[in-house]
Amino acid sequence: MSHPARRLLLGRSHAVFFIVIHKRLLYLPFLLLFAAVSLYAMRWQQAMRTATLMADAGVLRQRTIAVDPGHGGPDPGAKRGGLVEKDVVLDIALRLERLLLQAGAEPLLTRRSDDEFTDGERISGNKKKELSHRAEMANRINAQIFLSVHANAFPESKWHGAQVFYQRGSEEGRRLAEAIQAELVRMLPPNRRRALAGDFRVLRETKMPAVIVEVGFLSNPQEAARLADPNYRQRLAEAIFSGLIRYYRGIPSPPAAS
Ligand SMILES: [Zn+2]
Repeated sequence: MSHPARRLLLGRSHAVFFIVIHKRLLYLPFLLLFAAVSLYAMRWQQAMRTATLMADAGVLRQRTIAVDPGHGGPDPGAKRGGLVEKDVVLDIALRLERLLLQAGAEPLLTRRSDDEFTDGERISGNKKKELSHRAEMANRINAQIFLSVHANAFPESKWHGAQVFYQRGSEEGRRLAEAIQAELVRMLPPNRRRALAGDFRVLRETKMPAVIVEVGFLSNPQEAARLADPNYRQRLAEAIFSGLIRYYRGIPSPPAAS
C-alpha cells in the first residue's frame, strides 16, 4: 500500500528517531568527561591518602611483619553470594603488603596466591596442622608482628563492622589489637566495635604479638557490597597499616572489650 500519506508518516518517524539518537550523542562527550574527572579525582584522593599515611610510616622501617591471609586452596572460608572469604582477604593482604613495602617494612605473606602456602608445603585437610604451619612460618623468620586477615559470616544478617581479636593474656597482643581496632573505627565508620580477647591456635602458637583482623561480615548485605569494592578493600588495608603505625608510635587506644 503505497499511499502518499503513509510515506510521509514513515519519513517523519525516521526523522524523529534520528533527532533522538543525535541528542544522545551530544551528551556523550560530557559523560566521558565526567567519567574521566571522577576517575582522576578518585586516583588523586587515594594518592593523597597514601602520602598522608607514609608521612608517619617511618616507625615501620625494617620491621618484619607476617601477614596471613586466611584459608586458601580447597578451603574457601566463609561464602555469601559470589563473595568468598579466601579471595577477599588475599586481596586485602596484598594491598597491605604493597603499603608495607612502600614504608620500607619487610612483610612476609603466608600465601600470595590461592594456593595454601607459598613455600611449596601444602597441608590441606588438616586444619590444626595448617594453622600451626602459618604460626611456624612467622616464628621461623622471627617476625615482630603476626597479623591474620579473615572475614566473618553469621546466620543473621544484622551484624557488621571490622573487629580485631587477640590471644587472652597477651598484653602486647592486646595493645596491637586495640591500635588496629582504633584505626578501623576512625577510618571506616560506622563501626563501634572494640578489640576482643579469645583463644585461637594461630595466635597461641606465634611467639610475637599476634592478632586476627576480621575485616567485616559477608552476611550483612551492605558490608558485603563494600567488601566486594576494590576501593573499600584498599581503605581496609590502609586502616590496618595505620593501626600498625599507631602501635609502633605508642599512641594510646580506647581499651578492649572485657
Ligand atoms: Zn576465616
